[in-house]
Amino acid sequence: MKQSQTFIPTLRETPADADVKSHQMLLRSGFIRQNTSGIYSFLPLGKRVLQKVEQIVREEMDAINSVEVLMPAMQQAELWQETGRWYSYGPELMRIKDRHNREFALGATHEEVITSLLRDEIKSYKKLPLTLYQIQSKFRDEKRPRFGLLRGREFLMKDAYSFHATRESLDQTYEDMVQAYSRIFTRLGLNFRAVIADSGAIGGKDTHEFMVLSEIGEDTIAYSDSSDFAANIEMAEVNMKYDVSTEELLEMEKVNTPDQKTIEQVSTFLNVSPQQCIKTLVFKADEEFVIVLARGDHEINDIKVKNALQVKTIELASEEETKQLMQCEVGSLGPVKLPVGIKVLADHAVASIRNGVCGANEASVHLTNVNPERDFAVDQYEDLRFIMEGDPSPDGKGTIVFAKGIEVGHVFKLGTTYSEPMNGTFLDDNGRSQPYIMGCYGIGVSRVMAAVAEQYQDEKGFTWPGAVSPYDVHLVPVNTKEETQVALADDLYKLLKSYRYDVLYDDRAERAGVKFADADLIGLPIRITVGKKASEGIVEVKIRHSGESFEWSREEVLDHLQTFFHTFNQ
Ligand code: ATP
Ligand code: MG
Repeated sequence: MKQSQTFIPTLRETPADADVKSHQMLLRSGFIRQNTSGIYSFLPLGKRVLQKVEQIVREEMDAINSVEVLMPAMQQAELWQETGRWYSYGPELMRIKDRHNREFALGATHEEVITSLLRDEIKSYKKLPLTLYQIQSKFRDEKRPRFGLLRGREFLMKDAYSFHATRESLDQTYEDMVQAYSRIFTRLGLNFRAVIADSGAIGGKDTHEFMVLSEIGEDTIAYSDSSDFAANIEMAEVNMKYDVSTEELLEMEKVNTPDQKTIEQVSTFLNVSPQQCIKTLVFKADEEFVIVLARGDHEINDIKVKNALQVKTIELASEEETKQLMQCEVGSLGPVKLPVGIKVLADHAVASIRNGVCGANEASVHLTNVNPERDFAVDQYEDLRFIMEGDPSPDGKGTIVFAKGIEVGHVFKLGTTYSEPMNGTFLDDNGRSQPYIMGCYGIGVSRVMAAVAEQYQDEKGFTWPGAVSPYDVHLVPVNTKEETQVALADDLYKLLKSYRYDVLYDDRAERAGVKFADADLIGLPIRITVGKKASEGIVEVKIRHSGESFEWSREEVLDHLQTFFHTFNQ
């Protein structure tokens, strides 16, 4: 493509309203423009990156027999009413009316549409399993659209849906998807982890999020420094043995602790470590009060409390409720002499505390030399705390490290959540009617583009990896008034194109400085500069990401490019 004939509006200054690197650079390099909050246009270069991402996604979907379709963005309200999501989805779902006042949703996701599509067509187990996908714009009226393409209100998603007659068949497709996703994100050059996203009642294998490790990520993930274990911190199991000291059990004592409320204050005041303290919290689980204990240096994870109790709702009791139940203010609570009949849950670490410290359920008084079982009873010991950096990895391999992550993909076993209410059924091999067993699998295609943009740039501009770069080669004649330079550049342009390289040819009559600055901003993997040595048939070839440069003849350029792109695309 000749640069004079395309549209690449680069900016010299960093746009003030862009808050993350990827967004700033995508604007500066002329890849995208914002139309309004969370809504973007992809300019020619941006569109090419999207296409390359899409191409990789398509190849890997096709490889696991997932078949492409295109469904409508406009979806009649009735479909969403069938599953109840018309009422439960909330303001994120964009709704419109047609001229007859009929209501529609702009597709935020397509479970309803695809289930309605298949329920009329697929009636027999013989036609299952089936996996369909599409790449399409999604609409979500996000509360806080931000970080450019990372959280838009109109964005591009690959969404796949699978339909099965058996759980085993769903498990198989789910596994294929996880593998395909791993190949996609590897090919895109992203540093990612497949993260266990929900270990709730269904057991922890039913949904994974694919997270790109990045400082600007909105989620925190816990991963092992020496295995592929990774989980959302809310979900990460703590699996460790605590050393129990052999210290002699001492007699419990009451001590005055005026104004000492937090674990930090109490431990400093009494000169003990937070590990010696017992943290006591009152939760309300499905309207019933429960006492939850943890070691002073640990944070209680209410999702784990909820799962351990097998309740629907969990929340911290209000100060008022706590005061009424315990006859004492928050700050001096403890598990010794609790109101009769109240359930006590404790994290495993509490069992190993010897001669510990806790509140005495009396204002400004604490107890020392408190020992579990001798001084208070626990109904259930469970894993109730958040994992911490430095904990052993739950898979027994390595140590836990934290990182921020950008969610780029999500795989989910839906089961019959949609097929049941929508009557999506088939006849099994015994002639019985069964609801489809379903899975759904998303990739944020435009978000992925931003995640790559975030990772691949330096102070001068992008350093696109070969797999997604808008073009392979930037061909830059320094002086378009010099006939020799133009002739050699024209010749190279034709030659490289004939070898199927994507070439951006800077044929503009601009100053060399402008051309080089633009080339650095755009950040194609290879820049070929045709300058003074054109008369000797020599050009300068520069590798964008390493900064290395070489002087090569036309033939050498061809040879080396072949090797370069071959290794690059491995
Ligand atoms: P998030 O927690 O970031 O809001 P989500 O759980 O709502 O994501 P899904 O419904 O699982 O996301 O959508 C599938 C994929 O679509 C996500 O993994 C993400 O990559 C992408 N995605 C979701 N919301 C947006 C958005 N507002 N802008 C760009 N991409 C998005
Ligand atoms: Mg969301």
